[in-house]
Amino acid sequence: MPIVVQKYGGTSVDCRDKVMQVAARVAQLRQEGNDVVVVVSAQGGTTDSLLSEARTITPEPAQRELDMLVTAGERISMSLLAIALNSLGCRAVSFTGSQVGIITDTRHTDARILEVRPHRLVSELEKGTVVVVGGFQGVSTEKEVTTLGRGGSDTTAVVLAAALNAERCEILTDVNGVHTADPRIVKGAGLIEEIRYDDMAELARFGATVLKEEAIRFAEREGIALAVGSSTDTTPGTIVLEKPRTPERPVVGLSLLREASLVEVGAAGSSGAAEALASYGPAVRFVAGRSEATVAAVELDGLPGARPVSLICVVGPEAGSGETLAAVVGTASEAGCPVSAISSSARAVAVALPRRWGEPLVQDLHARFFSDRS
Ligand code: ADP
Ligand code: ASP
Ligand code: MG
Repeated sequence: MPIVVQKYGGTSVDCRDKVMQVAARVAQLRQEGNDVVVVVSAQGGTTDSLLSEARTITPEPAQRELDMLVTAGERISMSLLAIALNSLGCRAVSFTGSQVGIITDTRHTDARILEVRPHRLVSELEKGTVVVVGGFQGVSTEKEVTTLGRGGSDTTAVVLAAALNAERCEILTDVNGVHTADPRIVKGAGLIEEIRYDDMAELARFGATVLKEEAIRFAEREGIALAVGSSTDTTPGTIVLEKPRTPERPVVGLSLLREASLVEVGAAGSSGAAEALASYGPAVRFVAGRSEATVAAVELDGLPGARPVSLICVVGPEAGSGETLAAVVGTASEAGCPVSAISSSARAVAVALPRRWGEPLVQDLHARFFSDRS
């Protein structure tokens, strides 16, 4: 039987009615003759409120305990969904990440997956049971519960799809696919039917939370086409794949990372700059400037001495061209928005700007690049 992995995000399971709706959709998929694995996130807002609660006790709670705490969120939604499925007569069992053999390194709150040992999951599928898995979590080589970084349920879904050689991996959420910009910021944003892994990863890196960058990179390495769509209807959404089959637009989409900082890292090529960059590690989004005045744009907030900024990224086959760069800078200048750093690569351009300009400039740039849609 074909194996289908579906992932439902937090807002898709945040009340009883939505859990029942998801259960009905999953039961139907099972009835159509598929083996089904469902990955669920914590109910919307739960992870944030658990983290805030811990921080009312101490500003820096132990990372290990934070992992123990937030994984409770996914446990609630996975068990509720399994209860709902069984109540509909569709046999289901819920498992934690640890129970389905997601083995990670020991980095609490942002662990990397090292291996998947899905024996228990496979034997349940063989019995015809739907398996519901708590997303965003695993167990470390030291046998501790770990989590995979915010938005990590996407990673769980992709990694399980690869381990099970699934026929489909569907990321189902509160929008009906990936759009040319966040539809909550740009009303006229249009659905992108097919998008390259690279472009999608770049959008995700610069704030498009609809997919987690790590999940996209993993899907790319494993050659898994990701379908992104609505959790409440079955109309086709977006496919993330190696190469779109239809001609791409010169600019495919844009994204906004609201909370970032611009930090001075010293002279390019100096050991001081290298050290500074290494200390920001995976938070670095781009490095810009010349010789003495190199700056790094990092996805961190509240750094002492740093300038708070937002970052906007534009991607597509022509996004790295001089014309696109000129259009981005020109649009900002027409609006009166100061741009404090720019970086461009083959298929992308990114700029840093004062935070209050983030949303208005995304809207203006969308109008400029998608005048037929804004
Ligand atoms: P989930 O809880 O299902 O994982 P997320 O909140 O992580 O959902 O991701 C869905 C959200 O991503 C949407 O509600 C939307 O506001 C945001 N988003 C940002 N950029 C885009 C984009 N380009 N296309 C679609 N959604 C986007
Ligand atoms: N619940 C986790 C979070 O809020 C994981 C996820 O939603 O994917 O980040
Ligand atoms: Mg998400």
